[in-house]
Amino acid sequence: MELYCHECDIKLVRGPWKHTTTIGKITVVDTSATAETCPQCGTASLSQDEAEGYQHRAAHLVLTQAKHATGEALKYARSILGLKQKELAVLLDTNEQQISRWEHEETIDRRLRLAVAELLDLSQRGERSLAELGTNGSRQLEITPRAG
Ligand SMILES: [Zn+2]
Repeated sequence: MELYCHECDIKLVRGPWKHTTTIGKITVVDTSATAETCPQCGTASLSQDEAEGYQHRAAHLVLTQAKHATGEALKYARSILGLKQKELAVLLDTNEQQISRWEHEETIDRRLRLAVAELLDLSQRGERSLAELGTNGSRQLEITPRAG
């Protein structure tokens, strides 16, 4: 499918794209992928998957690499995971009030950051029902060889 720029009405071309995501006070510049961009005005058209990919990588990077991450990074990651505070609490073995407190803190600790980054990894590997996984503690989980 060919895409056209809404402003300039000319065909978009796939090329290098610098994507900027702001999480709290941290700006993440991602040049890891390409995008359909307008040769005239430079506007990019991102698919839903591409947009989510940028958000996901930015959140992961902030959680694992940033010197300091605020509670906003936790909140941002939670929204990407599509989890309510209560659901994330179950996965992290804590309670809703604690999640809320962390999300308002100036600094969140390294262990918490890595635990949430791990959840982002899981969600990317296709474990889409993280919430379900968390709310049913008695459920049996199986590890099976990957197909293909
Ligand atoms: Zn344009």
